[in-house]
Amino acid sequence: MGNCIFCKIVRGEIHSVIEFENDNILAFHDLNAQAPMHLLIIPKIHISTINDLQDIHKNILGEMIFAAKEIAKDKKIADSGYRLVFNCNDAGGQTVYHIHLHLLGGRMFKWPPG
Ligand code: AMP
Ligand code: ZN
Repeated sequence: MGNCIFCKIVRGEIHSVIEFENDNILAFHDLNAQAPMHLLIIPKIHISTINDLQDIHKNILGEMIFAAKEIAKDKKIADSGYRLVFNCNDAGGQTVYHIHLHLLGGRMFKWPPG
């Protein structure tokens, strides 16, 4: 997707601070961090929203969640706790239409979220 900001990050056309990368997914620091640790984990293929997921995407979604678990362990926030979030569409708070898993940690979070 030519104009998608996260596809541009995947292609290296926009700078990002990368924490983890493999053939299928990329994890990088959120530009506007909402916690001491705030990473975005994305598939390298363009998928606009969670609503657009198909059966063929099941493995890549699993890979994203497993990457979050491993990164949380490496960053030593696994035991204290962390939050994983997918925002979907306008009311869900989605602003970038390439799916991304927020990994937030390093502070206490409230529930319900605002
Ligand atoms: P969401 O509101 O769930 O769509 O989250 C989009 C996230 O992408 C926000 O937390 C933004 O701060 C973040 N973001 C937008 N542009 C960039 C960028 N170029 N590099 C890193 N994070 C970004
Ligand atoms: Zn994209």
